[in-house]
Amino acid sequence: MPERKVADRLALIAEGLYRFDTGYLRAGHTACYIVVNNGHAAIVDCGVTATAEPLLGALEQTGISLDSIEWVVPTHVHLDHAGGAGALMKMLPHAKLGVHPSGKDHLVDPSRLETGVRALYGDAFFEREYAPVTPVSEDRIVTFDDNTSLTLGSLALPIMHTPGHAWHQLGVIDPRSQTLMAGDAFGAGYPELAKTDQPMLVPVTPPPQFNPEAYRKTLDRIVREGIQQVAPGHFPLIRDVPAAAARLEAMMDEGLEAALQADSCEALEQALLDRWSKWLADPEQRALFEQLYGKDIWLTAEGVWRWRCKQKEAS
Ligand SMILES: [Zn+2]
Repeated sequence: MPERKVADRLALIAEGLYRFDTGYLRAGHTACYIVVNNGHAAIVDCGVTATAEPLLGALEQTGISLDSIEWVVPTHVHLDHAGGAGALMKMLPHAKLGVHPSGKDHLVDPSRLETGVRALYGDAFFEREYAPVTPVSEDRIVTFDDNTSLTLGSLALPIMHTPGHAWHQLGVIDPRSQTLMAGDAFGAGYPELAKTDQPMLVPVTPPPQFNPEAYRKTLDRIVREGIQQVAPGHFPLIRDVPAAAARLEAMMDEGLEAALQADSCEALEQALLDRWSKWLADPEQRALFEQLYGKDIWLTAEGVWRWRCKQKEAS
């Protein structure tokens, strides 16, 4: 079905499935998803702390009562996906929080996460985009193993562990439209460069847990399990799942090859921009990609660079 805007920053993208644009960094960059089934609702991915109020406001405006929200499920604990979990849980006193077993401790005590993020992004960025990160009380957290499911009234939503981008990542499947809410397991898309059924996607491979082999297996599994659409944490709905998985794998392989040839992380950034922009045929779109993606590339390059250093140490 075509997407339909239903409230400020909120769009209906499939039967009972909404996407909220959190506005993190810019519009069209980071999304949360809301699954609704007969008076039962779940929020998948939370955005940052500042997302909580506008998200719940948009849901109320659409007639989705806050009492119906039974679950808050960050796909992984990176702060653009889980930073707002504590703030949402405060505003939704009846909800449970569902998370990958390896992510739980970081939500009960986000201090280690905060230290890591401050080291990577700097204090100023942390204060501006993420602070404060509120802990979640342990007795409200449920952990999801692979191949389990989340219950929403009469609907069971399968859970798939999706390591590669991060070790502790999971995806949630809405069985009605076979849509996987994938967090960062299936690349990030650029709506400015979206073609109807082939959005421009890039692999997202940040430090410290990027693992190419796990990433590859996750892409294969998503295709094998017959997922019809992927709703990524960073943006447009992906409908050509097998073709997109093949493109992402080929781009990741190009990135690994570039890393082994590069002699610094800065050189790798440029090599990734050069190689990945070639996936766009139109020179104008290439220039726009370099302009937009140039802002996000450092994190991906850093993750691939750390992988490369480990390879060199091991050989
Ligand atoms: Zn992300």
